[in-house]
Amino acid sequence: MTPAPPLELPGWRHVYSGKVRDLFVPADTAEGADPAHLLVVASDRVSAFDHVLAPGIPGKGELLTRLSMWWFDRLAGADGGRPVPNHLVDGVEVPAEVRGRAMLVRSLDMQPIECVVRGYLTGSGWAEYQTHGTVCGIPLPDGLNDGDRLPEPLYTPAFKAPMGEHDENITFERSVELVGAETATALRDLSLEIYRRAAATAEERGLILADTKFEFGFDADGVLTLADEVLTSDSSRYWDAAAWRSGTTPAERMASFDKQIVRDWLAAHWDKQGTPPALPDDVVERTRERYARLLDLLT
Ligand code: ATP
Ligand code: MG
Repeated sequence: MTPAPPLELPGWRHVYSGKVRDLFVPADTAEGADPAHLLVVASDRVSAFDHVLAPGIPGKGELLTRLSMWWFDRLAGADGGRPVPNHLVDGVEVPAEVRGRAMLVRSLDMQPIECVVRGYLTGSGWAEYQTHGTVCGIPLPDGLNDGDRLPEPLYTPAFKAPMGEHDENITFERSVELVGAETATALRDLSLEIYRRAAATAEERGLILADTKFEFGFDADGVLTLADEVLTSDSSRYWDAAAWRSGTTPAERMASFDKQIVRDWLAAHWDKQGTPPALPDDVVERTRERYARLLDLLT
């Protein structure tokens, strides 16, 4: 990982940079103490195949932040479902330098599981299905194609690898060993519920939510809380429902509102060894347009 040097924010101390986001705590937080809250700043960095690419996608940090905030609100009950607890905090000023692309959140005891839900077969799931007839070890019916809808949404957890390592797909049983049966079951059930609700919202807007990934943590009262970014075009695959139905080639059918353009370009121009090549201007621009369009369509 080669995150850009984090910015200086008066009153805040930088503590961590992931591939896309930079985390800050209040500057008066004692070394090693639990911070009162975290400032999660989304950059314009884009990653694919676990590499940060250059250049970034202009405005992406803000688009992702607006999308996450919109979904947190929907899932807090605006979609008619029961409220899903989330990590947002009100009442603390976001520094002007990062307003629009930063979220203030409660610092949670994060669970080391990436809670992936797949409603459609594609990506690494499709690759595994072609060789083994399974997705994350779960057997599937014969004769499915890339992009097909799964008989029902599948929960396929991954172990969230320590910084710099690749996340690893695991079975549900393995997730039980990692976090215990009660937590593993709660993560699965909540992930499937949120996926179904979000997929229904997307469908009303002509979009297919093909798959997505959630992260959860426990708050100070032991409440399982939805954290991180949620249902963004970085953490999810969104397709155009009309294009999907037309049943042409997989690529056309999946006219997508996510970073598939980046993945496809990279897969065609890089052997996944060493430093990835710089993204050409038109790939950057088309990706920016897709991210912006998704926000328009949804909100
Ligand atoms: P990537 O998502 O690119 O695989 P990453 O998860 O390490 O890598 P980012 O997503 O850029 O990096 O950074 C966000 C980090 O903040 C993640 O490690 C995520 O687990 C953590 N995080 C999100 N919400 C909270 C929260 N409420 N409390 C504590 N940590 C959080
Ligand atoms: Mg992340």
